[in-house]
Amino acid sequence: MADHYEVLGVSREASLDEIKKAYRRLARELHPDVNPGEEASERFKLVTHAYDVLSDKDQRARYDMGGGDSPFGAGGGAGGFGGFGDIFETFFGAGAGGRAGRPRSRRERGQDALVRVTLDLQDVVFGVHRDIDVDTAIACETCEGSCCQPGTTPVTCDICHGAGNVQRQVRSLLGNVVTTVPCNVCQGYGTTIPYPCATCQGQGRVRSRRTVSLDIPAGVETGLRLQLPGSGEVGPAGGPNGDLYIEVSVTPHPVFSRDGDDLLATLDVSMSDAILGTTTTIDSLDGPVDLEIRPGVQAGDILTIKNRGITPLRGSQRGDLKVGVHVVTPTRLDHKERALIEDFAKRTKAPAPQLSEFHQGLFAKLRDRFRNS
Ligand SMILES: [Zn+2]
Ligand SMILES: [Zn+2]
Repeated sequence: MADHYEVLGVSREASLDEIKKAYRRLARELHPDVNPGEEASERFKLVTHAYDVLSDKDQRARYDMGGGDSPFGAGGGAGGFGGFGDIFETFFGAGAGGRAGRPRSRRERGQDALVRVTLDLQDVVFGVHRDIDVDTAIACETCEGSCCQPGTTPVTCDICHGAGNVQRQVRSLLGNVVTTVPCNVCQGYGTTIPYPCATCQGQGRVRSRRTVSLDIPAGVETGLRLQLPGSGEVGPAGGPNGDLYIEVSVTPHPVFSRDGDDLLATLDVSMSDAILGTTTTIDSLDGPVDLEIRPGVQAGDILTIKNRGITPLRGSQRGDLKVGVHVVTPTRLDHKERALIEDFAKRTKAPAPQLSEFHQGLFAKLRDRFRNS
């Protein structure tokens, strides 16, 4: 069995501080994360065991007297040491599996981006193609995301020797505790870039304006977000792209409003047309549509034009265009007109105004919708 002092490379009179320093230096060199070889691993165990013994006052005294030291503290009975694992954690952070202390990667996923588009109702009914300019980050063409000037590579950090972390001694209630903190020379990457790419300042990506070609489907509505996976900005050091979200905003239409998949509008009909009936042509979003108004149509009647509404986002069956009839009563009559209406009234013996329950028909709702939008 190797001599513990020799293993740590310290004298027999070494202070506890010197022993700790020696161990830290060797551990950094031999730790499996830094030095994965079989031989280094064996030496690391020896070094750790030597430190276990020599850093404990009682165990060290017993060792100096030439007895009581069995490998890895088996039966040592000195207490206070759980062996290998505890030391491991003390010096390399939590997680004795050796995961802690691994340098972090420069490559990260890019951020998601959000772009707002404003559509009119026509776009919602039929869907629309848009080319959208997006300010984003794209991979640097000079270094192809490596962050280094072409022909150069990152080098292992001098301070943490590639671990990405360094150990720092902190005073605490439990005495001096060694904690692991990210190396501030390499920012925890374990490597530094001696010659950063001049184009991207060593970021591996550059800001750019990109045009995204987009088919916005019919049936979208204000507040809806369309997700384009992988169309967001590229990550640092050539990391994968984030996603692009397109948030839709629909401007109100002066005539048509939306009710689910249906479109709603109001049609002003003169009193005589309402009585006698007529045909008319209305301008729907699909173009002119002929509409028949039957004789005797009532104010508040709904005329339905099939399949002239909105195609739902998921589905193909278009909604309807619903037109609410609003009968316009004449307000200014000349003498002759007034005489005709009076004559008409006498002939038809119209009933006197009559009270019934308040009628909250669909048309009333249509009107409310208009007032609110
Ligand atoms: Zn570059
Ligand atoms: Zn470092």
